[in-house]
Amino acid sequence: MRVLISEEQIRQRVDLVASEIRQTYGHEPVTIIGVLTGCLVFLADLIRRLDLPIRIILVQASSYRGATTTGSQLAVNDDVLGDLKGRHVLIVEDILDTGKTLRHMVNLIQAREVASVRIAVLMRKLGRQIIEIEPDFVCFRIPDEFVVGYGLDYNDEFRNLPYIAIYEGQK
Ligand code: 5GP
Ligand code: MG
Repeated sequence: MRVLISEEQIRQRVDLVASEIRQTYGHEPVTIIGVLTGCLVFLADLIRRLDLPIRIILVQASSYRGATTTGSQLAVNDDVLGDLKGRHVLIVEDILDTGKTLRHMVNLIQAREVASVRIAVLMRKLGRQIIEIEPDFVCFRIPDEFVVGYGLDYNDEFRNLPYIAIYEGQK
């Protein structure tokens, strides 16, 4: 396991991205939709830096089985979205990889007559994207490696590491 992004680097970037988000929304109320489970730690750190009226909705989306990066079906539990009409929505996601999860999320949300939809990602993995989608806020651009820690797992392990590391066991 090799450290890719340290605790200190995470803290600094999340600070900056949180202030970009604050500037974008002014004092407008925002509904934050966190994509579980990987967003967990990022979301918790981010919202404590947002001095805005916010609501939080957590959605379960999973496309990964272990470290397998292809093949599995995307499942999103969208029953929890409720009434978003007229709301400003900010999707919070751990990684933009192929783009499938975020495209699916944006489509689900736009169907609900929202005022706006924006995307904040902790990491954007370079060279992997197949669906065209542009996140509004990005903390880190990372190489095409399988990463764990700061909420991200490999087979449900390592989510509690306070830093982000490259998992070198299997790819
Ligand atoms: P996409 O739909 O963009 O291909 O996949 C995004 C999802 O795959 C992310 O939300 C994340 O849960 C998972 N994912 C992508 N790359 C990695 C990685 O390097 N490590 C971990 N743990 N999950 C990843
Ligand atoms: Mg995810």
